Amino acid sequence: MTEVPLLVTRCGSCTLRYLPRAGPCPRCGASNPLPFSVPPLGSVLAATELTSPAAGWPAPHRLALVELAESVRVLAIVEGELPSIGSTVEVVHDVETYHTRPPH
Ligand SMILES: [Zn+2]
Repeated sequence: MTEVPLLVTRCGSCTLRYLPRAGPCPRCGASNPLPFSVPPLGSVLAATELTSPAAGWPAPHRLALVELAESVRVLAIVEGELPSIGSTVEVVHDVETYHTRPPH
């Protein structure tokens, strides 16, 4: 897993914060995104465990909805035990996915 810095995008026009993605701002359509790095810690809003995940995923497959800085939310794959609601996790971004793990 190749870890990359955890980035959030701020729209230069309407100031919406969102996860980096291709294309224009999802709210106003402007094309002047301003990426900035955020701390890799977030608060767990929800977490679930899929006992029969889609083909290709190991079971059980655990997912957490995590709120990062700037109120940006990310759905991340959980490494290890299912985190409790309100707990703090570290969010790791590799090239393709987001993961959580217990904070250091
Ligand atoms: Zn915008």
